[in-house]
Amino acid sequence: MSLAGRRALSALSRPRLYAPALAGSPAALRRLLSALAVLEQKDGKLNVGSLNAVTAAQKLGGSIHAFVAGSNIKGVAEEAAKVEGVEKIIAVENGAYDKGLPETFAPLLVENIKKGGYTHVIAGHTAFGKNLLPRVAALLDTQQISDITEIKDEKTFVRPFYAGNAIATVESADEIKVITIRGTAFAAAPVAGGSAAIEDGVDPKVESPTEWVSEDLAKSDRPDLATAAKVVSGGRGLKSKEDFDRIMLPLADSLGAAVGASRAAVDSGYADNSLQVGQTGKVVAPQLYMAVGISGAIQHLAGMKDSKVIAAINKDADAPIFQVADVGLVGDLFEKVPELTEKLSKA
Ligand SMILES: Cc1cc2nc3c(=O)[nH]c(=O)nc-3n(C[C@H](O)[C@H](O)[C@H](O)COP(=O)(O)OP(=O)(O)OC[C@H]3O[C@@H](n4cnc5c(N)ncnc54)[C@H](O)[C@@H]3O)c2cc1C
Repeated sequence: MSLAGRRALSALSRPRLYAPALAGSPAALRRLLSALAVLEQKDGKLNVGSLNAVTAAQKLGGSIHAFVAGSNIKGVAEEAAKVEGVEKIIAVENGAYDKGLPETFAPLLVENIKKGGYTHVIAGHTAFGKNLLPRVAALLDTQQISDITEIKDEKTFVRPFYAGNAIATVESADEIKVITIRGTAFAAAPVAGGSAAIEDGVDPKVESPTEWVSEDLAKSDRPDLATAAKVVSGGRGLKSKEDFDRIMLPLADSLGAAVGASRAAVDSGYADNSLQVGQTGKVVAPQLYMAVGISGAIQHLAGMKDSKVIAAINKDADAPIFQVADVGLVGDLFEKVPELTEKLSKA
């Protein structure tokens, strides 16, 4: 974008947050904060996990709008309108946005941010959010603030880095804060108690040479890994895909748990990419996380150490996973897990 274009955009979208007359009046500042929560949908269904963006927006204390786009968006917008605290749903009906391609979704979002004059734009730190918001931030000539776990005030945010080994508190002077949030740090806002107005958003219908060709997704009837209350994850100790499936899947079913995996297990072809937990996979914080044949490398811990109860089964008593585990069993997984599965199935 040209400098003139960026200036025009900046002038248009400049929030009144820094109006001199309001300086030093926190209540007045809060009234002028306005957040846009970017929600996700798939096949015309709202991804309720993405409502954690609303929860984060609520912590800012200003007005909240939510944004949805895609085909058959009316039902998604109506469901999102039931979330308490959301004043308005901005909905754009256009099948071109179904897959959330950033090449077209980012200019769409920017047009709607300009129109709404938001001070904060918030999305989940999911594949969708990570793909989209950096491009949005670039178009707005602002710095993205990634993967935050806490909101201190309207310009100060906490975010882990170095795989969670260090925590930074960052302050942004940008006029529009473009933020992705860590899902495990903000619970999804419940779909209840609200009655937001639904408004058609602007649709710039940007042409893009990029088109969605196809997707090849692993289908499962088990709970979704990102939001499951219980997760059982297998590592390289499982030795093969056949053994991973033979040992881990019955264990998951006996607990009603989602299946996860270490990167070593994924790289070895034992489990699908979408099941990877860790720094470069999904970040989960279930009630129960059971690590089977996983050593506990820091990159794996980065994705599960906030779980409420961590259980580990490993034949090596010195495996680092035992340093974070609440419950540990030292033994051969090929013997211990089937025994545990049998007991759980009978319970
Ligand atoms: C930039 C970067 C990003 C990364 N991101 C991730 C990530 O997102 N997620 C991730 O998981 N890793 C990630 N890694 C890789 C990480 O460093 C480790 O290599 C990986 O987590 C190891 O996986 P593992 O524990 O399954 O395998 P191993 O470290 O090989 O551990 C296997 C464990 O199984 C146990 N075992 C073996 N046989 C048995 C048996 N019969 N019974 C019981 N226990 C047994 C062993 O004692 C051992 O502890 C990343 C690495 C880098 C450099």
